[in-house]
Amino acid sequence: MRLAVLGSGTVAPSSERTAPAYWLEADGVRLLLDCGAGTLHRAATFGVPWADVTHIAITHFHIDHWGELPHFLFALRWGVEPLRRDPLVILGPRGIGSRLAHLTEAYGEWVLHPEFPLEVVELDAGTERPLADGVVIETHPTPHTAESLAYAVRTETGRLVYTGDTGYSETLAAWATGCDLLLCECSLPEERAMDQHLTPAGAARLARTAGATRLVLTHVYPVFGGRDPATLVAGEFEGTVVTARDGDRFTVTRAYGVKHP
Ligand SMILES: [Zn+2]
Ligand SMILES: [Zn+2]
Repeated sequence: MRLAVLGSGTVAPSSERTAPAYWLEADGVRLLLDCGAGTLHRAATFGVPWADVTHIAITHFHIDHWGELPHFLFALRWGVEPLRRDPLVILGPRGIGSRLAHLTEAYGEWVLHPEFPLEVVELDAGTERPLADGVVIETHPTPHTAESLAYAVRTETGRLVYTGDTGYSETLAAWATGCDLLLCECSLPEERAMDQHLTPAGAARLARTAGATRLVLTHVYPVFGGRDPATLVAGEFEGTVVTARDGDRFTVTRAYGVKHP
């Protein structure tokens, strides 16, 4: 399983970090996790085959996590040659279908009826669903918004957990246990802590409790200034920790010796 970070930032404009978007490839699945502003152009910049996307999974309805979805769909319709015929599945929390239906009023019927088969799947928290042979997506609620989900993608060779936006949660940590890479939001420094987001200490605690060995911090707000969240975490987490940058690529395998429950 391979991960490319398209956007490691937030809603706050930044030349270095665009809004949340992550590209995951595993056994024929090409999955976009979140679709914030900047996704398409970052994908083009980093040579990610965005037009071959098979699935898009949205964590929650804050606009920095899915505001570029209509743009992405429009690009699949008008921005590729030859015309796309391959099916696409959009996954998201309960309510994503009705929200997309409202977007057809704003943008046109193409949002839900492009020239290729489009399926919208609403996922309950605490469920799982196969994406393809040997590739499963799992969901867990996060303390952020009423609908917010964390996703895990599981194959025979590894499990990646993406927290989406979240505050600290023991049940989230228990669910994340057994992941080979924890892609974890780390929005704010300690002096700006809030219940709906994680600080470096909160991310470290989540990773520790989950028994993660490899922690990638993301969703970094500019209020960190020049401070690197990974450096702030290092003393509180024994595994490998880095702060994601746009364009970073990771391979997710069990080679990192994660302890499975
Ligand atoms: Zn959010
Ligand atoms: Zn966010």
